[in-house]
Amino acid sequence: MCANVLLCLFLIFKLVITFPLPKEYCIEQYVNSSAVKLLQEYIQIDTSNEENIEKAVNFWKREAVAMGLQFAIHRPANKPICIITWTGINPTLPSIILNSHMDVVSAAKQPWTYPPFSGYIDENGDLYGRGTQDTKALSINYLEAIRKLKESNIKLQRTIHMLLMPDEETGGFNGMISFLETDEFHDLNPGFFLDEGLTSSDETLYVTYQDKRPWQLNVTIYGEGGHGSSMPDETAMDKMQRLFDITTQFKQRQKQIMLSRDPLDYGSYTSLNINMINGGVAPNIIPSYLNVVIDMRLAMSIQVSEAEAMIETWLEQLGNGTQLSYIRKIEASQGTILDDNFYWNSFSNALKEMGLQCLPIVCPATSDMIYVRNKGYPAIGFAYRPHTEPRIHGSDEYINVVTFVQAIEVYVNILKNVGNLL
Ligand SMILES: [Zn+2]
Repeated sequence: MCANVLLCLFLIFKLVITFPLPKEYCIEQYVNSSAVKLLQEYIQIDTSNEENIEKAVNFWKREAVAMGLQFAIHRPANKPICIITWTGINPTLPSIILNSHMDVVSAAKQPWTYPPFSGYIDENGDLYGRGTQDTKALSINYLEAIRKLKESNIKLQRTIHMLLMPDEETGGFNGMISFLETDEFHDLNPGFFLDEGLTSSDETLYVTYQDKRPWQLNVTIYGEGGHGSSMPDETAMDKMQRLFDITTQFKQRQKQIMLSRDPLDYGSYTSLNINMINGGVAPNIIPSYLNVVIDMRLAMSIQVSEAEAMIETWLEQLGNGTQLSYIRKIEASQGTILDDNFYWNSFSNALKEMGLQCLPIVCPATSDMIYVRNKGYPAIGFAYRPHTEPRIHGSDEYINVVTFVQAIEVYVNILKNVGNLL
């Protein structure tokens, strides 16, 4: 409990009129807020396990119904997509779409200080859990912003749709990609999309207007097998060593480009990491094949034919029999043009009104917006997570409860602006 309730009330009043509130005040007040409790409950649904996605669907259905919002589920490719709708005064105007995803990446084999699906809050007000940055806090922020507007009897001109996707982390094949082709999607009459954004370790907020193209290569390398005591030439492991050398050289060149540019110029280089290696049968058997998964995010300037030719030369150096398939290979990534874009002007004005600065950049990774922008819709990635250590996909992913509650106010103001564009 706060030592001084009056002081708390005064500080909450201050939050409304001066923004942001210093976080050291009254963390208890935030910890006990219904929005934080809702986030904890949502974090506790372990949606890294696909079987629990339906539990997340039920969670959203319950909340939408309780708020008197329309709720629909579509399953264009068997997986559930939730749509929560707050109808505007003028529903013929193109809608504002607030997109996020229900699934989270695994927290297994990572050193977490607190259990990743507990929603534990420490003495600083840091709420730990898988999805706190990617993207469960964002989803709750959207809902709570709508709740605040509704409770204040504010109505927006445009209809707001919250979309909750089931499989963004595995490429969106049964979520956004399938949904974009349906009548239900077109019936949303989309005008402008907001989606997940980057975490910022200082006060600058980032807005992503274009994603890098993900190419994820599944390479199977074949070589001489045999008894573990023999020493044949050209084993699969020898060839894998060659692949490591080739890709390490490439990675070092790209790192040089990265280090020679502004640290936020993510589009200037191609990232590469070998993220999975599988193989081997027994300690005394030389394996006849090994499997490697390489994750690349292409520089904006590299052409598809150029990248394909480069990968081809890598495989040639490994010898015959090497097999390549792509887990993901997105060849085009359109950007949203911000100049003279009236959605963008309205969005950035909303932040300026609150004294917040944002910087438009190319996203170093990929979101569902890559497919949305390729269909020609304006879309930006944004999250209000200043002064937060970026831990998306890492261990000890967290959000401070004060930051989380402030983000609701930010979205209230964003919606008041973009939702009232005529
Ligand atoms: Zn993610």
